[in-house]
Amino acid sequence: MFLEGFKVESPHVRYGAGEIESEYRYDTTEVAPTPEGSWVVRPKSVTYNFKTSTAVPKLGVMLVGWGGNNGTTLTAGVIANKLGISWSTKEKVHKANYFGSLTQASTVRVGSYNGEEVYAPFRSLVPMVNPNDIVFGGWDISSMNLADAMGRAKVLDFDLQKQLRSHMESMVPLPGIFNPDFIAANQGSRANNILKGTKKEQVDHIIKDIREFKEKNKVDKVVVLWTANTERYSDVVVGLNDTMDNLLASLNKNEAEISPSTMYAIACVTEGVPFVNGSPQNTFVPGLIELAIKKNSLIGGDDFKSGQTKMKSVLVDFLVGAGIKPTSIASYNHLGNNDGMNLSAPQVFRSKEISKSGVVDDMVASNNILYNPGEHPDHVIVIKYVPYVGDSKRAMDEYTSEIFMGGKNTIVLHNTCEDSLLAAPIILDLVLLAELSTRIQLKAQSQEKFHSFHPVATILSYLSKAPLVPPGTPVVNALAKQRAMLENILRACVGLAPENNMILEHK
Ligand code: NAD
Repeated sequence: MFLEGFKVESPHVRYGAGEIESEYRYDTTEVAPTPEGSWVVRPKSVTYNFKTSTAVPKLGVMLVGWGGNNGTTLTAGVIANKLGISWSTKEKVHKANYFGSLTQASTVRVGSYNGEEVYAPFRSLVPMVNPNDIVFGGWDISSMNLADAMGRAKVLDFDLQKQLRSHMESMVPLPGIFNPDFIAANQGSRANNILKGTKKEQVDHIIKDIREFKEKNKVDKVVVLWTANTERYSDVVVGLNDTMDNLLASLNKNEAEISPSTMYAIACVTEGVPFVNGSPQNTFVPGLIELAIKKNSLIGGDDFKSGQTKMKSVLVDFLVGAGIKPTSIASYNHLGNNDGMNLSAPQVFRSKEISKSGVVDDMVASNNILYNPGEHPDHVIVIKYVPYVGDSKRAMDEYTSEIFMGGKNTIVLHNTCEDSLLAAPIILDLVLLAELSTRIQLKAQSQEKFHSFHPVATILSYLSKAPLVPPGTPVVNALAKQRAMLENILRACVGLAPENNMILEHK
């Protein structure tokens, strides 16, 4: 059974004029050593109060790299959905949809009725922005308008592009911050739309752009998301970018090692605008994280989890969870889009390699029966640029595992990841959830005041290849755990128990 929406009836939930309040019992466990040298595990319950503002804002989304494959595909996709466009291919007539978006195209189980399972859209858990109402804007170092850039991307079917062109021709990216030292030299030829001035002046310009965009489009809130080229890692150096004060001083001194992505992030955090990083580089240097914490301004990332890594974070979780020991993971990719061309520079590829490499760490560390402390499967990542395949990235993986009594199991996957068509709905989820999470407040019973989530938004980890977490907290990569975390937090906001799959009523 399927419900379009629902309301919770409970003494612990109150739907007010402007907010939903819930009282929620968080059942957890405490683990402690005993004086005798063994361990005890104690169940623990903490009562939390959640307060979710139901004032859904008019949302503006500014993309850094708006004219790229992802930026144009997302913008075009939302317009097509808004206008209810359909188009023909040799196969059939297609209708615009939001497939691939967790919030728009997935469901949650809400209970059962007469023995039948009842589901509702994920987006119906708490009030969220309707993607069709988003106003898009942003920056690009290429001045090409979005209609032409959509053509350059070669992602969407031609009949669809023809219908969208007139809606996108007037969309022109604002000049971006360009520093050739941080991306591949092969990107230089498209850089004809760039900001001038010192680094501080450029950051101030980005702040001005955000304010003007807000004003011009009469939006209540803006979220900024980096979907520009992958940059090389910036060096983290004591005195340069290791603390907030050093980072801001370095910006004023026009230090070379402050990357464009960090500069956009400084502008957003300064302005209290959520900033999400969809690429692998270390935009969030320690000084930037400190700045975000001080300003309590949301930052999230890194690197969209769209294709190969998403599979990996499912498959290795399944293998290790089944008591099977992956010992070698070899991952090859080839792609022919501009992202692939940029990644062909070794220092830029290195950012991607780092981001893709950490994805099995938590699963391996969870099982000391299979792995000795410090032991890790061999894990190799190769990416090659093959222009002909365009945006249709190929990912090939070989997983070899040790099984019962000396046996070996080998799984080989070939995954055609239509790159931007996988990434665009993820970008949508990131901005919708980033916006939503700024409307949620919580407090434990022992706390006097409500507070927002930690500004480092772990709630976005389901969508991120290398989830950014607050310093000193665990990173979770396993996809099912990430989804459960997100769903269960939103359930808590309306006083629903976490989905525990016990189905005791039928046992
Ligand atoms: P793209 O090369 O088509 O688009 C990037 C755009 O950014 C280009 O139009 C470029 O001109 C612009 N740009 C570069 N530097 C800029 C700057 N400093 N300021 C403003 N604009 C700038 O790439 P894409 O396929 O859209 O991917 C975008 C990013 O998303 C890449 O870093 C990629 O690694 C990352 N990513 C993509 C996927 C996916 O598509 N499935 C998955 C994970 C991560």
